[in-house]
Amino acid sequence: MVAVPDNEPWHDSERYKAGKLTSCAGCGKSCRKTHWGPWCYGCNVERIERINKTFADLMK
Ligand SMILES: [Zn+2]
Repeated sequence: MVAVPDNEPWHDSERYKAGKLTSCAGCGKSCRKTHWGPWCYGCNVERIERINKTFADLMK
């Protein structure tokens, strides 16, 4: 099992298993509603890393 940094909980696949069944807002596949909204693991990680990168760029 891969260690998940505490400050990056979106990398924790366990967090994608508890919510109500829905379809992903990104790819449309069936997934669980997460803390972050209706996003599957792949789409959410990509989305948050893109947002973080945008913030990092703005901080420069
Ligand atoms: Zn998706």
